[in-house]
Amino acid sequence: MSLDQSLHADREAISELGRQMLVDGLTKGTGGNISVKSGDAIAISPSGVPYDEIQPDDVSVLEDDEVVAGSTNPSSEYPMHSRILRQRDDVGAVVHTHSPYASTFASLGEPVPASHYLIAFVGDRIPVAAYEAPASEALADAALDALGGEYTACLLANHGVIATGPTAEAAYEVALMVEYCARIHYQALGVGDPVLLPDEEVEHLASRFADYGQTGDGWAGPDPAVAVSEERWNDLEPERKAVSSHGRKMLEQGLTEGTGGNISAQQGDLVAISPSGMPYDEIDPEDVPLATLDAEHVAGDRQPSSEVRMHTGILRERDDAGAVVHTHSPYASTFASLREPVPASHYLVAFAGQEIPVSGYATYGTQELADLALDALGEEYDACLLANHGVIALGEDVADAFEVALMVEYCARIHYQASNVGEPTLLPDEEVQRLVGVFEEYGQN
Ligand SMILES: [Zn+2]
Ligand SMILES: [Zn+2]
Repeated sequence: MSLDQSLHADREAISELGRQMLVDGLTKGTGGNISVKSGDAIAISPSGVPYDEIQPDDVSVLEDDEVVAGSTNPSSEYPMHSRILRQRDDVGAVVHTHSPYASTFASLGEPVPASHYLIAFVGDRIPVAAYEAPASEALADAALDALGGEYTACLLANHGVIATGPTAEAAYEVALMVEYCARIHYQALGVGDPVLLPDEEVEHLASRFADYGQTGDGWAGPDPAVAVSEERWNDLEPERKAVSSHGRKMLEQGLTEGTGGNISAQQGDLVAISPSGMPYDEIDPEDVPLATLDAEHVAGDRQPSSEVRMHTGILRERDDAGAVVHTHSPYASTFASLREPVPASHYLVAFAGQEIPVSGYATYGTQELADLALDALGEEYDACLLANHGVIALGEDVADAFEVALMVEYCARIHYQASNVGEPTLLPDEEVQRLVGVFEEYGQN
């Protein structure tokens, strides 16, 4: 790609992600901005233009701090963007947001600690840069200080967030994770004491994430020696369709952020599962790979989700389940970070069982995590929380498991909100047991 072509792609990405910032609630009005480095040139969102009106041609391009293209003035935060882009060789793009949960900790002047494992996208915590005037060179220095050589993001005191990445899309995903982790920590502090992950585990996670972006390299697809027939691939079309359509629903219904979470559906000895690292709104049925119950990839061009071992481990053991929906839904994940079960403060908890239990902590995607989830689920629960992580919901098929995942988030939200203002009254065990029976029959009709 020539420099001109790559600049055009960068300007399109800035225009699109700007709109996405509004949709995802990462900013309000014209606050925040996005920049991308391309050779000596920097493309950056324009100053004072509402995000939903920014066209690729409006995006400013600067070389040696001189505007060379763009129909409006560059963002006033250009000095901060350009300094970070020039000083950090690993950074190709900067996303600056005013997202509300992260900005809350920015106003407290407190870093966000590792109460959720996704903090490893950033480092062992989300550090805070000292307050300096917006648009000043001093703010650029403060941000660089806080980022150091290793963090991919920081808070700007009394202001907002800086998120970085090799590409605009990667920096944007970091900005989403910053807001998500800040939200989980904020909510957990509201009703208890979040359990923080040990430093060694966060370091281990950070090294896995560093590799994660590279899994596409050299990926050759399924091993032809174990690949399944085209007939079997076609047999699982309903399962592949269900995984594809419910991935989109997961985003629409706020059960996850970015590319987090995943869905699997079993038919016989094969499992259709969400592909790794692909945005949900781009996943079509033909993108959904197949794996064996031993997590071996046997069909489809895309690599199975990094959590394939957890899914197949659960499906192998729980004969009554034909599908697993794994979410990072925010209220349920709050209790996951508190490592507290969600009790029966609402009758719909009976969709999961007597309560929504919480498993021990293990690194995402491991067989160990599948084992811990199975311990928590036992024979009788249809859902559990995964400590410092998210939710597992089971069902006979994907639609069924998805409904359970929705109920888990709903009950967690009600319990959270009730706990915030008082002491929720819990239903007696016998009544919950009765409801569990009623829901089981209901599922069989
Ligand atoms: Zn700002
Ligand atoms: Zn997960």
